[in-house]
Amino acid sequence: MTLDHVIKRIAIFGSTGSIGIQALQVIASNPDKFAVEVLTANTNDQLLVQQALKFNPNIVVIGDETKYESVKKALASTDIKVFSGEKSLEEVAGMDCYDLMLAAIVGFAGLKPTLSAINNGKAIALANKETLVVAGDIVMKMAVDKRVPIIPVDSEHSAIFQCLVGETRNRIEKVILTASGGPFLGRKTNYLVNVKREHALQHPNWRMGAKISVDSATLMNKGLEMIEAKFLFNLQPDQIQVVVHPQSIIHSLVQFEDGSIKAQMGLPDMKLPIQYALAFPKRIQSDFPRYDFRKVNTLTFEDPDLRTFKNLALAIDALNKGGNLPCVMNAANEIAVYAFLRNRIGFLEITDVIEKTMEKVPFIETPTLEEYFDSDGEARNYAADIIKL
Ligand code: NDP
Repeated sequence: MTLDHVIKRIAIFGSTGSIGIQALQVIASNPDKFAVEVLTANTNDQLLVQQALKFNPNIVVIGDETKYESVKKALASTDIKVFSGEKSLEEVAGMDCYDLMLAAIVGFAGLKPTLSAINNGKAIALANKETLVVAGDIVMKMAVDKRVPIIPVDSEHSAIFQCLVGETRNRIEKVILTASGGPFLGRKTNYLVNVKREHALQHPNWRMGAKISVDSATLMNKGLEMIEAKFLFNLQPDQIQVVVHPQSIIHSLVQFEDGSIKAQMGLPDMKLPIQYALAFPKRIQSDFPRYDFRKVNTLTFEDPDLRTFKNLALAIDALNKGGNLPCVMNAANEIAVYAFLRNRIGFLEITDVIEKTMEKVPFIETPTLEEYFDSDGEARNYAADIIKL
């Protein structure tokens, strides 16, 4: 049997989310290449059951323990094993039944299962950028020690990763992360003060989960991606530049020390970087719509507006200072974004909550994993206090 005919066994952590659902579409189109071994959700038991009945995994995990009985009952006529609770996510990630984890849980909750999978020697297709924002140094060191490949799913990082194939010994001068600018590109503070949940969720180019949609609207997403890039590609902060490119055709670029720039391009469709990460190192045929230079023939670029979109400025500060500051920023951002999504605070207040929390939580230069968890907890408590949750 050649390598081409080995079926890769995939564990999708966060299968009911935007990335998880698109990954299952990729897998459904390539049944000779991928098998689903693990599916997990947090509260969406109905979709998890539907997915399980269609893809027949070995294991499903429902994070919310109150949903365990309903999932168990719905899958009673199958051989699928059902687990529930946060701890089970880590335990299942530590099992041997799969080859590659697609880390597609949103937020800090994705960190522990991903660490468990790396510790277990499993390849990671990483969508959950928060994992690297919170504890990137520790995660990447563990991956190197365990010889585990971390293949990015985020379209910008997938672009950089693709540009770097075959360039192992060549020095990167800088990477240029492209940003669509989100739904409020060109808007000023007097407009943003009145922005509501439904406006922030209308991204012009991508359909994504609620949290990352708000992060894209505040430009925090680009800040998280700068920090993600630092750890994934072992870069210094001044080697990472952001440029706003509203058409989202160039997904990111790498400039080498000879001045040459490589870019990866395509229509904005997350199925492409998902498929690339699942199939790596091979490329596999797809029917995704192709980019036609004649149809979108103007590609534009501009600097991000850091005065209006202060979250990106805060993230650059966290990137430069390092230590536990990105972790603290991420925790405050998660609390603030979910408060905004529940109409508890306004759009611009998201920045206030993050800024105050970053000032308050004590700085630690080289945190241990325990200290990252503590910083996350402390930042969440402080941010929740500010919002009076
Ligand atoms: P969604 O909100 O659509 O989905 C999140 C998934 O995580 C769902 O399966 C959800 O389960 C599960 N989940 C949420 N909270 C928990 C928890 N506490 N414990 C266990 N599982 C949990 O997010 P996206 O798919 O949009 O994003 C996933 C990750 O990928 C994020 O880190 C995001 O930044 C990143 N990403 C996303 C992109 C996109 O296009 N969507 C692009 C690039 C990166 P349930 O459905 O039951 O709530």
